[in-house]
Amino acid sequence: MLTLAIETSCDETSSAVIKDGREVLSNIISSQIEIHRKFGGVVPEIASRKHIECINQIIQESLDEAKIGFKDIDLISVTRGPGLVGALLVGLSTAKALAYGLNIPIIGVNHIEGHVCANYIDHKDLKPPFTCLIVSGGHSYLVQVNSYVDYELVGRTRDDAAGEAFDKVARALGLPYPGGPFIDKLAKQGNKDSIEFPRVFLDDKTYDFSFSGLKTAVLNYLNQEKQKGNEIIVEDVAASFQQAVLDVLVGKSFRLAKSRKSDKIVIAGGVAANEGLRNMMEKKGKMEGIKIYYPSKILCTDNAAMIGAAGYFQYINGNESDLGVSVNPNLDIN
Ligand code: ATP
Ligand code: MG
Ligand code: FE
Repeated sequence: MLTLAIETSCDETSSAVIKDGREVLSNIISSQIEIHRKFGGVVPEIASRKHIECINQIIQESLDEAKIGFKDIDLISVTRGPGLVGALLVGLSTAKALAYGLNIPIIGVNHIEGHVCANYIDHKDLKPPFTCLIVSGGHSYLVQVNSYVDYELVGRTRDDAAGEAFDKVARALGLPYPGGPFIDKLAKQGNKDSIEFPRVFLDDKTYDFSFSGLKTAVLNYLNQEKQKGNEIIVEDVAASFQQAVLDVLVGKSFRLAKSRKSDKIVIAGGVAANEGLRNMMEKKGKMEGIKIYYPSKILCTDNAAMIGAAGYFQYINGNESDLGVSVNPNLDIN
């Protein structure tokens, strides 16, 4: 079964062709990062316009690379939320037009579920149930994935997302947007024990996260050091901040996995590209007898292949949208 997938929820225009939910025949990603970088973040109106300018060409490229034509597609899968409303509308409208014109089924999928499903592409043997840590630019969730379509939400951030915290701290350190990958790189050269930043576990019953206090602690530290005229060692700040985030993410993920007797932890979303997170998870996984999964870096951040995987598993489990499907910028995971 061939799925054409379209992703336009934020600042990547992407189209992919996926065979049977796990095999990538093409995955074309056009990123607008350079355009938004000079504003220090994504400008929604510019993002929508850029999607319109290139979406048709990106779709054609994805078909060409997969060596198929429109007539070969069995299913259209498209992100319907969460994301920027204007950006989502470009992808969804295009997908609806194709589904109508080709007279084939369409499925509107949850972008965050897409991040999880990226793992099915890189790990052909991976099957639910598993414990999943989703850490992206706008969301942080702890989820128990009971089946391909049953996501049990157990914890979420009460304020900033993990990726957002990386990006805000990076900005304060004068690093380019998005700052996560830069912090990751600098952290390797710094001393993670040099600065004592808070680990916010909240109370020990909850699986929720909170990262805004940590972000403020880093900003306060930077201001104080500047006022004292001290030199700021960016590598040490990056390493200490990153470790404070990872201690909480890894600690809560393992606590949930153990409470559910889960022998697998899956990481998803842009922050799953973080090498410190991957290493710490794997080290602890070896000790605890829990297997760790994460996608290749290109499938961690936004791409249509993951949307194709998500749509395929929804569809074969009996779910389908109709042409009345609408975008939902605040679509939650459930
Ligand atoms: P969402 O998926 O919540 O709607 P998004 O699509 O904008 O948000 P993603 O594409 O999943 O976010 O991920 C982008 C985020 O991942 C950014 O915050 C970026 O800084 C972060 N990120 C990417 N690589 C790394 C890394 N190596 N270390 C830490 N963070 C990273
Ligand atoms: Mg992006
Ligand atoms: Fe995303």
